[in-house]
Amino acid sequence: MIRIKDILDHPEEFEGKTIDVKGWVRTRRGNKGVQFVALNDGSTVKSLQIVFDLSKFSDEELKPVTTGSAICATGLIVKSMGKGQSVEMQAEKLEVYGTANPEEYPLQKKGHSMEFLREKAHLRPRTNTFGAVFRLRHAMAYAIHKFFNDKGFFYFHTPLITASDCEGAGAMFQVTTLDMANPPRKEDGSIDYSEDFFGRQASLTVSGQLEGELGATALGQIYTFGPTFRAENSYTPRHLAEFWMIEPEMAFYDINDNMDLAEEFIKYCIRYALENCRDDIEFLNEHFDKELIDRLNFVVDNDFVRLPYTEGIKILEQSGKKFEFPVYWGADLASEHERYLVEEHFKKPVILTDYPKEIKAFYMKMNDDGKTVRAMDVLFPKIGEIIGGSQREEDLQKLQGRIDELGLTGMDWYVDTRRFGSVPHSGFGLGFERLLLFVTGMQNIRDVIPFPRYPKNCEY
Ligand code: ATP
Ligand code: MN
Repeated sequence: MIRIKDILDHPEEFEGKTIDVKGWVRTRRGNKGVQFVALNDGSTVKSLQIVFDLSKFSDEELKPVTTGSAICATGLIVKSMGKGQSVEMQAEKLEVYGTANPEEYPLQKKGHSMEFLREKAHLRPRTNTFGAVFRLRHAMAYAIHKFFNDKGFFYFHTPLITASDCEGAGAMFQVTTLDMANPPRKEDGSIDYSEDFFGRQASLTVSGQLEGELGATALGQIYTFGPTFRAENSYTPRHLAEFWMIEPEMAFYDINDNMDLAEEFIKYCIRYALENCRDDIEFLNEHFDKELIDRLNFVVDNDFVRLPYTEGIKILEQSGKKFEFPVYWGADLASEHERYLVEEHFKKPVILTDYPKEIKAFYMKMNDDGKTVRAMDVLFPKIGEIIGGSQREEDLQKLQGRIDELGLTGMDWYVDTRRFGSVPHSGFGLGFERLLLFVTGMQNIRDVIPFPRYPKNCEY
């Protein structure tokens, strides 16, 4: 199967040859003598121009060749006279697989709003914009696996259905086969989960980290890359109910090793996109975000700032800026604070470290001050938090103390990593769609995943 990307990338190999191309018609225009069809097959954002000489094709034959229709065109590849393309096809034969009625096909003209396209999410992959976004999504997934594989990390599969909710990273979706209308009850009236499918209450995972630690403390360096579910009732442009997360976890890494890895990793992904997805990025730069390429280069070329939370709070307090949410030592930072530090103060990505223990998870390693933990969040322009990570508490007594303090139960399997052969170790989580927001320049996280799930929406 010849794909249009091959033809446009290597025109010299195809010039003078008669070939078949198959794809979807983006536009058809022309006059009484000749018709030009822009054909796209999804392999690239660029379309191949097919020239139909009306002395060879009748109006009737070309009638089903409408925007959105699927065709096979056979013809000779020749140098193009028109600008914008090196070669085009002179059609000799046409087969129409399926037409698309112009009265009904919703993607007629260019330049639909993102909101409109979100309502037509089943068809939006057919637009140039979403083609570019989903090709980039694929390329980033590949780059992530390549990065870790080349470093000797192992892809470790953590469960999607879990009975542990101790991460506390977000509200969970329950998984049950009990009859909702009439669940079995215990004597005190509460639901009897011993009769549920797993014999206990189960949910969809909010993070694979705790299980990831079991992998890292055996295989040394692992990463997870899978779907993650959070029942967060937030309508922000940065949250989904179902998103993908990459969570590397490394034995013998301290927080500095962890930060080095996070910075190298994210730069690698962005560089990979710049080097391998040029056409798509240039398209997005031109049509959506004129600063996209500059921003990507800037991140690749500059060191990230590393700053303790306490210093960050001082900067925010002294900024004289009026924030919606108050700033004080102990406050969890909102996106507006994170973006102030990154976009206005430092004008660089920032890794914020050593957060107050109260606003971070129980497993993070306590600092000697007894107040802060060895957390590290990577904050990015336009996004805010893109990575959240930490050095983990390896001391059995301290970890158990935190677990008891918070009243967590059912953690014995996790605590065993500290009971037997405990080691210093670290890890982090990168939200895949947050990375894609950055790399594509899209504004809304619902536009970087094919089938977004968010409150009150579960189409397809
Ligand atoms: P935020 O404060 O932005 O809600 P978080 O602190 O809850 O994020 P973590 O639990 O640290 O997030 O998760 C690790 C990473 O996963 C985050 O840095 C972010 O990139 C991504 N992430 C978290 N929640 C979501 C979500 N609902 N949708 C998409 N990505 C998310
Ligand atoms: Mn976080």
